[in-house]
Formats: sequence, structure tokens, C-alpha cells
Amino acid sequence: MPVGFGFDLHRLVPGRRFMLGGLEIPFDKGPLGHSDGDVLLHAVVDALLGAAGRGDIGRRFPDSDPRWKGVASDVFLESVMADLAPDWEVVNVDVTVLAEQPKIGPHADRIRERLAARLGTPAVNVKAKTMEGLGPVGAGEAVGCYAVAELRRRTLAHAGGSLA
Ligand code: MG
Repeated sequence: MPVGFGFDLHRLVPGRRFMLGGLEIPFDKGPLGHSDGDVLLHAVVDALLGAAGRGDIGRRFPDSDPRWKGVASDVFLESVMADLAPDWEVVNVDVTVLAEQPKIGPHADRIRERLAARLGTPAVNVKAKTMEGLGPVGAGEAVGCYAVAELRRRTLAHAGGSLA
């Protein structure tokens, strides 16, 4: 079964909402971006596209396109899920958020449940790590996320077909 990998990183700046997995987390800075800068959803979208062999988030939703300016990244996930749905179902998704602050752990379960509902599988895992004070994430200048997704090709078996 195909596996895809996604990564995203955004600079943290004052005056932006800290959006992660579609939830707003109280913090005095937020990710700079053309969209809402949600690194978790961007990484998951890229992992899904990677597994399906369908390009990447930047090509689908270019930051030169005013349609995506300030948009909630749920829109990207919904669009990609709709594109994949006829051919693929999500087996599981695992993400690791990289953030020195704010603490992600207390929000991880809510993010996981929200993501699971949108991905159509309970097999979603959300983890978070600091960078031990190292690099731009460690300095609180950026937030990042890694994601892995596994897909399964839909078959006609449930409809009585023999396609495997
Ligand atoms: Mg991004």
C-alpha cells in the first residue's frame, strides 16, 4: 500500500492566529503564510498527495493565487480528500509537530479527533516535539510538521466485484 510523506514549516510572527490542525491555539504569534499557515494540515495534504502520486500542495494551491489568500487550510484538505475519494481511502496518518511554544500536547487529542473525522479513519496519531532550543523552531521563530499517510486503493469487492 502506498505511503506518502509530508513536511511543512512556517515562520511565526505576531498578529497571526496560531492555527494547527484546523484549531486555533491561544498564543501571541502565529504562522505567516498566504493561507492560514496551518503546518499540520499542509503536511498532511502533502503526505496524502505523495501517497497517491498526485503532486504537492504548492502546485495545487499556489500562493500566487488570490483564491487561497487567508483561506482556512481545511479547504485544501477537503479538496484533496474529494479528489482522492473515488480511488483511495486513508489507512492511517501519523504526524509530528515541531514547536518550541505553544505546548501542543494539551491540544493533541482534539486535533486528532478532528483530523480523524475528516480523513475518514480513526487511525490518526498526533505527536509533538520541541527542538530543545535549537534552530529556528527552537528559537520560537518557526513551527513545523512532519506527516506520513498510508492509502489503500478502493476495490469493488464490497459491490460484488472481483477487483483486488
Ligand atoms: Mg505551508
